Amino acid sequence: MVVSPINGSSPLSHSNGRTIPLSTFSRNSFVNVEKGDPVAFRSYWEKVRDECTVEIKGDEWMSYLGDTNNLCWYMVPQMRDAILRLHNVVGNAVTKDKFLVLGTGSSQLYQALLYALSPSESSHRPINVVAVAPYYSEYKDATDILQSRLFQWTGDAALYDKDEPYIEVVTSPNNPDGTLRVPVVNSRVEGKIIYDLAYYWPQYTPITDQLDHDVMVFTFSKCTGHAGSRIGWAFVKDIEVAKKMIRFTQLNSIGVSRESQIRAAKMIGVICDGYKNLKSIESDHLFFDYSKRLMKERWEKFKTAIEKSKVFTLTKYPTSYCHFNKDLSEQYPAFAWLKCVEGIKDGESYLENLKIRTRGGERFGVSSKYVRVSMIGTDDEFNELCTRLSNAKRE
Ligand code: PMP
Repeated sequence: MVVSPINGSSPLSHSNGRTIPLSTFSRNSFVNVEKGDPVAFRSYWEKVRDECTVEIKGDEWMSYLGDTNNLCWYMVPQMRDAILRLHNVVGNAVTKDKFLVLGTGSSQLYQALLYALSPSESSHRPINVVAVAPYYSEYKDATDILQSRLFQWTGDAALYDKDEPYIEVVTSPNNPDGTLRVPVVNSRVEGKIIYDLAYYWPQYTPITDQLDHDVMVFTFSKCTGHAGSRIGWAFVKDIEVAKKMIRFTQLNSIGVSRESQIRAAKMIGVICDGYKNLKSIESDHLFFDYSKRLMKERWEKFKTAIEKSKVFTLTKYPTSYCHFNKDLSEQYPAFAWLKCVEGIKDGESYLENLKIRTRGGERFGVSSKYVRVSMIGTDDEFNELCTRLSNAKRE
């Protein structure tokens, strides 16, 4: 591979105890910060790679079944135990008296929940599905792709004024803008709420409460960065909802890969063991400490680049007490949400001209003045993004 230094940067730089290799970008190549592939924490997993190795023999994990004594029959006991232990260590959710439903990523659980929370009587009109804009760009398409008779995407929850049944998706911290959210719909009809807590982990936001909602969805993808394992889970209060979700998952994929579950359980075990052996371990080996430091360092660098550019403004976040880290902390969201200054109408096109690929506001239900930038890509992508933004000074 030809490696071309940019701005005379040195071949190696050091950051957060990591060695960052020379940039592989040329002036003509695009920096892609459009997607949310969470590869930023790879350097941590490299450090502990041997502890995390999972060996699966040819005759192992062949069955569809995980644990026939569990309502969620395709979940292996190691996976269930690891998830419960993780929430116990982090303290971000109340798991007692709830059913744990495993999914092939939280994307599958979203579909399973729409099915499970929709009225089953065929005489009903499709239930309205809403979320406050800017909302996660995939909800709309994931809701409408099959043009279901059970549910339909109805858009911005802040504008919802029908006295009809609805499902409100509350994403907190939110993708794309990192804000902390609560339900907003004010209707005479009682709605169902899905809490999407993909980013309610200590590297992104202070853990202020042990949340105790009827439906809470988490994903392994954004917790550890192992998006390719496709593991998500939901805590559900109502057994009938849990049963319907499990039926959906049965018909959709006959459960969740057992190999993935074993690997995810191992990774989670390594994280939790670190916090158990606090005294004998360096903080660099504690996953959430490491990943939070990485996010903080990226955000500081990014803010400097944005200030230099004078083209965008950033969302401001409050400082809160984190019960997990036992300190006051800011938020370090997985995405930066930029607003163009006066005179620039389309942030995505503006950045496209700088060879930075982003996702524009319209995909999230707001104007093209806004644009989303991933903060969780590779070191190389992130550093190049900051360099290009710093040099983007408006004439
Ligand atoms: N919810 C939110 C808010 C997300 O940002 C994502 C991933 N980008 C998902 C759900 C889906 O995650 P996965 O299917 O990988 O679990």
